Amino acid sequence: MPSAHGPARLAELPLGAIRPTGWLADQLRLQADGQTGQLENVWPDVGPDSAWLGGDGEGWERGPYYLDGLVPLAYILDDADLKARAQKWVEAILAGQGDDGQFGPAGDDWWPRMVALKVLTQYADATGDERVPAFLRRYFTFQARNLPQRPLHGWGRARGADNVLSVMWLYDRTGEEWLLDLARLLLAQTHDWATFLTRDLPAGPAPAFRHLTHGVNVAMGMKTPAVAALLDDAVDDAAGGGRRAEQIRQMLANLMRLHGLVHGCFSGDEWLGGREPHHGVETCLVVELMFSLEQLVRILGDGSHADLLEQIAFNLLAASSDARMLAHQYHQQANQVLVSFADRDWSFSGPDANVFGLEPHFGCCTANLHQGWPKFARSLWMRAGDRTLAAVAYAPCRVDAELGGRPVRLDVRTGYPFDDVVEIGVSTPVTHEFALRLRIPGWCREPSLTVGQEPLPTTPDDDGYVTVRRAWADGDVVRLGLPMRLRTVPRDNGAVGFRLGPLVLVHAVGEIWRPVPDHAGLAEWEITPRTFWNLGAWVDDPAGIESWPVERRPVGPVPYDVDAAPVVVRGRGASLRRWRMRDNSAGPPPASPVATRAPVMELRLLPYGSARLRVAELPTVTVTPEPDDD
Ligand SMILES: [Zn+2]
Repeated sequence: MPSAHGPARLAELPLGAIRPTGWLADQLRLQADGQTGQLENVWPDVGPDSAWLGGDGEGWERGPYYLDGLVPLAYILDDADLKARAQKWVEAILAGQGDDGQFGPAGDDWWPRMVALKVLTQYADATGDERVPAFLRRYFTFQARNLPQRPLHGWGRARGADNVLSVMWLYDRTGEEWLLDLARLLLAQTHDWATFLTRDLPAGPAPAFRHLTHGVNVAMGMKTPAVAALLDDAVDDAAGGGRRAEQIRQMLANLMRLHGLVHGCFSGDEWLGGREPHHGVETCLVVELMFSLEQLVRILGDGSHADLLEQIAFNLLAASSDARMLAHQYHQQANQVLVSFADRDWSFSGPDANVFGLEPHFGCCTANLHQGWPKFARSLWMRAGDRTLAAVAYAPCRVDAELGGRPVRLDVRTGYPFDDVVEIGVSTPVTHEFALRLRIPGWCREPSLTVGQEPLPTTPDDDGYVTVRRAWADGDVVRLGLPMRLRTVPRDNGAVGFRLGPLVLVHAVGEIWRPVPDHAGLAEWEITPRTFWNLGAWVDDPAGIESWPVERRPVGPVPYDVDAAPVVVRGRGASLRRWRMRDNSAGPPPASPVATRAPVMELRLLPYGSARLRVAELPTVTVTPEPDDD
């Protein structure tokens, strides 16, 4: 088998090599018992009539989207029932290939097949099923023959990088040069995301549909220069990879400058929506941005992309469904103070877009949300050469890998991101030398690291990692301390957000969950507030926000349950009664600081993912005896 082409810095471990434990196992089990495990029974679009199963029902992206999450979930949990369910779909897809290599329903559209290809590569990673490389080879031959006359268009033209990933998956196994030509052709037919996002990106909510300002497309397009780097010649790896890494930094920076929200993601509801905190983020955008970031980390090796990956997973992904993962939103808001059927100031979406349900507004997220947690779990650790494992993101898990030809097991014991210590137990049948690369998050100022009793240096390299290379013995324990200080994030007009390590903290508003009668699916809710949402933060508290007590408790069996939040910060603020609703959302935060005579009161901050009613971007207040406001 040839080594991976191009400058990819890290390689994924086989699907199933990383098993979630602790709170992450609980979260994946909730998903398996909730929306993913029950979807085929409650949603006809992935039921027995699906055209991907040979029926006369839905035959576009929804079947493949669902499988893109079901397959990794089934193999990561090693769940026989989910595996059997996935197998039925895989067999139907494999059986549905024509003599010319084309497969599946969906007419001539290249796009839904791109998702099906990702499904098959993951399935082959987990099972080694030799039918998959042969199937891909026939389809890529078909693509090479037909793309010159029938180029990528529409969704496919925006998302061509996803197709290239599967081509490179096969190339890494066969080394056939024509696959590189096909990958170059696909990239040439894909939108030039680097130019658009660095030079042509408009500010404010997009006024009309365009593929280039569609939020999910942007999240997917973000990976395009990194995927292109896989095709760079080995001789200019450093120059090519470095140039493309810089391109991606600029793309992200420009996107955040014009459309960035307080939680570190950009708006897309469902088109790019500007910076105001009532604008939404579509659930498809959340999971696709995570997948793009996982690819950026793998290809470029830059730990800052993993910082953002954690931030999106631990906050926005968690918030996109209810705590038990029975229902999801189409759009989540950073400042979300009412979840209800009502018109809102979206760039484009209907009145049900922020309700928790089976298919709010449109069914793409219903089908696509499943990939979020499983792919994150698979990406926690990656391989960096024959004798090195890299910790890309931290969460409790067990990793089995071969290093230098010998089996090694890592047992990652932590409540992170709800706790600030990560303990890694090493099991190896024989003492031998290998390296662990440990990511030091960019926000962490005073990390600590020990192996056994021995303290080690923690200055990260240019990629943001500390490398510990030594002869490891069975039973060695690594202890990584990542102390989290409460910090503020400046926003427009003097407003602020709060962070604690990778967690976005929000003013949690009391929630009344109102079941919607006669709903489809597993559950449907509106949520109304039972406490005031309109508070300002007193960040000039003379004692300093560092004095605000941080309470931690063990993560419960439902990790993102608002009534059992594992982290609570008791801050200080004051009520701002003039800050009102506008168009059924919290209005824009008033210009800060707001002078007020209102009494100082507790400002209860919880993790963003725990609070389905929340204010993440707050005005600040100065507490003054002058009666100039409120
Ligand atoms: Zn969607």
